[in-house]
Amino acid sequence: MSVDKENAELMLNDSRISLQLQLYLEMKTGARLAKQEFVVSKSTIDQLRETFAAVLAEGLQTQLEPIPETLKNREKVANGLREIDREDYRKKLIVAGFADHPIWENSCAQCMYYVVSGRWCAPPEIALPVEPHWWCLLWRI
Ligand code: SF4
Repeated sequence: MSVDKENAELMLNDSRISLQLQLYLEMKTGARLAKQEFVVSKSTIDQLRETFAAVLAEGLQTQLEPIPETLKNREKVANGLREIDREDYRKKLIVAGFADHPIWENSCAQCMYYVVSGRWCAPPEIALPVEPHWWCLLWRI
């Protein structure tokens, strides 16, 4: 696995991103990793984000409704996401109801789960790179 030291240090300085990178790499390798192993180049994350952007721009039909308005309904969506195979990114995008644009003027940029420094969605059931103008059913302020 390639090590991009500059970006690794940047990411390792943010414990939330470190945790998510660990999850991401575990998704990729299917193995538990020691902390020093969960270093991934920024370009790998960027590539994944670009792939999602392309798939969404091509018109992937995601489950945009119903928008869960109660905690119970949010948990249903989260549970659905937890059942998805770790590397089935397409299904994750569908079940999470991703949109590559704001919905009702809400977007990842305002969401409590958005990690600005890594353009990353933090909840483990999602744990994916995102863009600030995107949105999903788990949006929360
Ligand atoms: S939970 Fe949804 S809206 Fe919030 S940062 Fe993640 S993808 Fe964006």
